[in-house]
Amino acid sequence: MTRSAERIDLICTSPGTDRYLTVQRYGTPGARPKAYLQAAIHADEIPAMMALHHLRPMLDAADKAGQIKGEIVVVPVANPVGLAQNLAGYHLGRFDLISRENFNRNFLDVATGIAEQVRPLLTDDATRNVEIIREAALAWIDAQGPRNENESLKFTLLKLAIDADTSLDLHCAGEASMHLFIHEDCFNEGGADLSAQIGSIATLVSKHSSGARAFSQAVGAIWADLREKLADTGKPIPTACMSATVEYRGRTDVTDAFAKPDAENLFKVLQRRGVIAGDPGPVPAPLCTPAPVSAMEVGYAPKTGVLTYHKNPGDVVKAGDVICEIIDPMAEDQTKARTPVKTLADGVMFGRRPDRVARPGMVIFRIASDKPLPHRLNRPALDD
Ligand SMILES: [Zn+2]
Repeated sequence: MTRSAERIDLICTSPGTDRYLTVQRYGTPGARPKAYLQAAIHADEIPAMMALHHLRPMLDAADKAGQIKGEIVVVPVANPVGLAQNLAGYHLGRFDLISRENFNRNFLDVATGIAEQVRPLLTDDATRNVEIIREAALAWIDAQGPRNENESLKFTLLKLAIDADTSLDLHCAGEASMHLFIHEDCFNEGGADLSAQIGSIATLVSKHSSGARAFSQAVGAIWADLREKLADTGKPIPTACMSATVEYRGRTDVTDAFAKPDAENLFKVLQRRGVIAGDPGPVPAPLCTPAPVSAMEVGYAPKTGVLTYHKNPGDVVKAGDVICEIIDPMAEDQTKARTPVKTLADGVMFGRRPDRVARPGMVIFRIASDKPLPHRLNRPALDD
């Protein structure tokens, strides 16, 4: 048995309170390839925890059988801060209440931090350059002194993942089908198999890490970013990590029936990535073709009112279809109280809001189209 558990204390934010991460490690520390998995950095996204709950006994069994070839690092609860956010009986969990920052935004820009430092060190050997960059990245994150609980959480998670060959950040959406966000380079370096294996019905690929800097972007885009920043050196920098944000359906899809096959699929992904021995079998036929994030149709509520949907996650829709209606419950004439909200694009609806009171500007649905949408080109991909 080589499994070990580590407790990492977060900066204490109030006398008499104590929060920490537990990190489960399988295989030999430092062995390659390394995989990193974390659940619910958005702490209200429990299906992610459920998938790891089912995966961990499989990893224990593989460990006992000596099948773990590399190293696997699992953080089963990535955000104990958000998990504790119960306000008057309602669980929040998405935003840090002190900094008001979305827990999955603004991770450190490691590429900018280390670019000039690694510039003179790079060689003509791509493998050696990966080692140099990982070493510099770990040291640079270590040198960023966290000032508060939120930073200690985010810096710790980033450091655990930054040198991984595979990094999977497990989330869910409001009410949704399986979907995936991934950097284009990562999609080409194993992400296509991941998308097919987990049964994603909408896989959104992006090119740039600027903007939101969500966890999986911060981990995965460092390679593309350094390639760009250090292009003038002519030194080879491969995409050394396949990093993705896996969205395990909707917030209340917390069942063994979903989570067990989800865990089995993750296990196969780890086998295919070379971390665990054994044959994962053939890659299943993909359920979607990847689309750029600019092909993601996002519906915004035009006004407030009662929200009622006419389309469900997984539905194929056509431009002009009414996805939902917003009802003014105070209108004098209730036969004229409805405002339809239509999609401007064809595609597959993969997510919608769990709330049933619309607020102006609120994201109320997401649809994966197959080509960039002119009205989406200059909009942020992650706007909530
Ligand atoms: Zn999330």
